[in-house]
This record gives sequence, C-alpha cells and structure tokens, in this order.
Amino acid sequence: MAIEIIMPKAGMAMEEGTIVKWFKKEGDTVEMGEPLLEILTDKVNMEVEAPASGVLLKILAQEGEVLPVITTIGYIGKAGEVLSEGEKPKAHENIEKVEEIKLDSVKEDYDIVVLGAGPGGYVAAIRGAQLGAKVALIEEQAIGGTCLNWGCIPTKTLVKNAEILHYMKNAGSRGIKVGKPEVDIKQMIANKDKVVRQLVTGIEVILKSNGVEVIRGRGKVEKDHTVAMITGKDRGRKVSYNKLIIATGSSAAIPPISGLHQEGILTNKEILSLEEVPKHLVIIGGGVIGVEFATIFQALGSRVTIVEMAPRLVPNMDKDISHMLQQSLKMQGIEVLIDTKVEAVEKQGSSFKVVVQDTEQREITGDRVLVSVGRSPNLKGIEDIGLNIEKNRIVVNKKLETNKKDIYAIGDVTGEILLAHVASTQGTIAAENAMGASREMDYRYIPSGIYTLPEIGAVGLTEEQARAKYKDISVGKFPLTASGKALAMGETQGLVKIIIEKKYGEILGVHIFGPNATELVGEATAIMQLEGTVEELVRIIHAHPTMAESIMEAAHVALGQPIHLPKK
Ligand SMILES: Cc1cc2nc3c(=O)[nH]c(=O)nc-3n(C[C@H](O)[C@H](O)[C@H](O)COP(=O)(O)OP(=O)(O)OC[C@H]3O[C@@H](n4cnc5c(N)ncnc54)[C@H](O)[C@@H]3O)c2cc1C
Repeated sequence: MAIEIIMPKAGMAMEEGTIVKWFKKEGDTVEMGEPLLEILTDKVNMEVEAPASGVLLKILAQEGEVLPVITTIGYIGKAGEVLSEGEKPKAHENIEKVEEIKLDSVKEDYDIVVLGAGPGGYVAAIRGAQLGAKVALIEEQAIGGTCLNWGCIPTKTLVKNAEILHYMKNAGSRGIKVGKPEVDIKQMIANKDKVVRQLVTGIEVILKSNGVEVIRGRGKVEKDHTVAMITGKDRGRKVSYNKLIIATGSSAAIPPISGLHQEGILTNKEILSLEEVPKHLVIIGGGVIGVEFATIFQALGSRVTIVEMAPRLVPNMDKDISHMLQQSLKMQGIEVLIDTKVEAVEKQGSSFKVVVQDTEQREITGDRVLVSVGRSPNLKGIEDIGLNIEKNRIVVNKKLETNKKDIYAIGDVTGEILLAHVASTQGTIAAENAMGASREMDYRYIPSGIYTLPEIGAVGLTEEQARAKYKDISVGKFPLTASGKALAMGETQGLVKIIIEKKYGEILGVHIFGPNATELVGEATAIMQLEGTVEELVRIIHAHPTMAESIMEAAHVALGQPIHLPKK
C-alpha cells in the first residue's frame, strides 16, 4: 500500500503551509529522508523529507497551493503500483485558491505596484512616488521586511548591548570600577522592539507623506497585469499595474539535515524573542549572521559553539580577515568548529543533541540551536507568470528587468548580494527605470559589514580575487597596535588592509578589522566609487587622532613608504 506524504505540522501555531517547490516529479525514485519538496510555513521555508523509499507515485498538491496541516499532498509506493480507490487523488478541501476568492468588482489601477515592503520594496515605492507615479505597496507581514524587523536593526540593537558589556568588563583596566553587570534579556528584547517600532512607524509615515498606498496581505501576481490579494486584511482586493516591482525578499534556509524542523529550533526570527539567555547555544553556520549572533550571546553569558562546514568562518571575506575573526572569537571564549558537518539534530529532553562529523563523529549538547546557513528567496505569489527562475532566484539584468515585460525584481529575491543597501539601491534604480529611465546596477563597490567585536568592514576584491584578476598588485597592512586612536581607545586588535593595482594605483579592495570598521569602510567606498587612486588617498588630509588615519597609513604601506611603522 502506498505511503502518504502529508503537509507537516511543523510548529504548534502552524495551521497551513504553502507548497513552494517539488524537487521530484511523478515517477522519480526517492530515498527515505531525501528532501522531496519545499513548503512555506508562517515562519520559515522548510523542506519535507520522503517518509519512505520508493517511487513518487502521485503529486496531489501543486506549487503555490496553500493547504491545511496534515493534508495528503502525495503518495510514495513501489514501481508500477496503482493507487487503490481510497488513495485516489481527491480534490483538496479547504484549499486557499485564488480563483475561489471573491474579488472586488472595482479593479484599482496603479502606475507601479511593489510586492514586498522590505528595504528594497519600500524604497522603490517612495522613489516611484517621488517621480509622480501612483504607487501601491503590498506587504503580508511587517513594513520594513527582514531588515527592520528581524535582521539589520534588531541584531545591531543587541550587538550594542554586547558592546556595552564588553566595555564594562574592560573598564577596570582603565581605572573605572563597575559592579558585575546583570543581564535582563526581557528588557533587552523590549528595547529592541521599541527601536524596531519607532523605525517601522517612521517608514509608514514617510510612505503616507509620499502618497504611497499600503495594501496588507499576501499578493499573488496574475497573468493579466494584476495582483490579487489572497490573504490578510485586504484579502479579495485586486489591483492592476502598469509596472510591477517584485521585492519579496528571502527567509532563513533550512538545510536537509534531519531534526532541523522540530519545535524549538531557532532561526534569526525566533532567536530575537528569547525570554531566557541560553546556557549553551549551538550555531549551525559560521557566516555573517552566525558570527553576529555568536558575539551577542557570548556577551550575554551563553556558552557558544559555532559549527561551520567550510574550512574558515565568513568564507566570502578576505582570508586574513576571516582568520583574525576566528582567533578573536576564540579569544572571547566562543568554540569554533570549522571543516565540521552537522549530520543530525535530536531532541533530548529540554536539550538538543547535535551530531557532527569532522575527523570523527561526535555529539554536542546545547539547550538551544540556531540555524543560520544562508537565505532562501521568497518565491510565493509569483509562481504563475512564467518568470525566469534559476537556482531558486529571479533572474534579472543590470536594469533589474526580468524576462517578463513591465516586471522588475529587486533585493534578496534576485539572489545578487543579500544586503539591505543593495536592495534599496536596486529599488531606486528599478523605480526610476519603471518611470522611463535607463539606469544600471554597478556591483563593483558594495561595502559590507559584520557586526562582531571588533567589527569588519570590506569593499571591493579580496586579496585572492585581486591576484586572480590582476597581474601586479601590492598589499598594504596597517596593524591597529600602531594607531594612536586605537591605543587611546584600548581597542588595538585588528588591522586595515588595502589592495592596490600597481600600474595605475587603482584601489582594488579595502578590508578593515577593528572598532568602527563598518563606518570606516565608507571612506574607502567613496574613494573607489570616485575612481580615486592610492596616490590621491595618501594625499587626503586625515584628522588626527582618528581610526580613519589607518586607511591612509595602509595606503602608505602598499606604496612601500610606511610612515608610522618601522622601516623593514
Ligand atoms: C539576522 C540578519 C541580519 C542582517 N543584517 C544585515 C545588516 O547588518 N546589513 C545589511 O545590509 N543586511 C543585513 N541583512 C540582510 C537584509 O536584511 C536583507 O538583505 C534585506 O532585508 C533584503 O531586503 P528585501 O527588500 O529584498 O527583502 P526583505 O527585507 O526580506 O522584505 C521582503 C518583504 O516582502 C514580503 N513578502 C514576500 N512575499 C510577499 C507576497 N507575496 N505578498 C506580500 N508581501 C510579501 C515579506 O513579508 C517581507 O516583508 C540581515 C539579514 C538577517 C537575516
């Protein structure tokens, strides 16, 4: 008898799930435990594993369907097996189908409709309105998207707490006596929520003042230049667009590791509302998000273990910087396991057993587990319009146009560079192009930041990339132990590294590990964007004492004329 595949109940509050993508087709052979399809719950994208080995006999639910939990969505059986009468596909009841929704008889027309109100979408909406367009902005969760509600802003509010605790810990050596600080996580979360609320409200006011109409609920793009609202407060409304900008963002990716879908496993969303500081937090993934949360929870008093599959943390960063970060995290007491694969996670009473494999298989027990292995673009609501989607992301050209006329895509859903300022820049360009301009994205000088203690700021090529692309390069490194300002601050861990191309003095990359690095990288970005050379950089007069001087000093080193370092 065939085995049912069901829409799982992946959380106490989960009532329904959306079929995002089937990885297999009818007739394919599947192994038990193998990822079969991706679904979207109210919280995360997750993969449903095959409940048995065999052949995928029947798919009952198509991509885009929203189904109640425990509904049968397919069958696995033996090759050639015929489904019995009881197993025959039935039409799903209670399925939320766009056709079944009664749409308002009046179709509202807009010059631009923006789907998704993250830093990509809301910026696109404001820019479109500034240019005179009648704009509707559709959002199913919260204005500000991931960045304002569950990403950039809440994490940085918590990183500031970590920084304050770090200063208090080190205050004694500067002659300031402070008592042992006490952490009140509930108050910290309340403070974080207040910051988020203030920012979100601010954006709502700006949208209103620009005449952007905000429509609440999940939008589904239809073939006839319209978007139908299929959930939420405005469910049933239908708007038509002249131009559509898709800005649906991304969600935490959950890898096909057994045990990651169970209750209590954290993503970047749930971890921001914890009511207790974990005793031992195991973080799966040593990328940007993983190391930021490691810094926060280590400072709050958790024992933290990072498990990273790659041979180094933040593998996209310059090698020197990533090694320095790894050392720094270890010095802070964070356990860093690289070249280590998580094989399974099992619940053990109130804790989780994380089975890992490096040279041997072993177990780590933590009371909380955070999954931060990357992001998965949100493709719900845009399944039916024939968009070119490759590797799970919408393909766009430099003008942010998709393969469909009048439809643009921006931000994380394009999978280009998953940063808020990239999404916002793309939003501006897409809105301008929608209004008749012909602007293109330039991805050469995108600064990025990692908010550890100390911070990382980077722009341009890593040393490895520069060596591969250019024949003759020079690298200048200025250690912060030689910086007057860093010494005065008592924060001498780190360096500024600059990579230049020797023939024309072009600045290829700047990588900073040290206090205020995420601000400092702005200077390097500005110079590079304006095509300033390294000779011009060393001629710019920098105030003393500042951390910014270190960029100039590193440039002197790259030119072979260090001023504040001994002659070699
Ligand atoms: C923990 C964390 C920390 C981060 N820190 C930083 C940082 O410090 N700096 C930085 O630059 N970036 C950071 N990022 C990345 C940044 O948050 C994203 O790059 C950015 O939010 C992408 O913007 P977006 O507009 O493309 O999408 P999102 O911000 O994801 O917004 C998309 C919106 O679309 C909505 N939506 C989706 N589908 C539909 C639909 N069908 N109908 C209606 N609404 C829909 C979603 O609800 C969401 O609100 C961080 C991310 C995380 C997770």
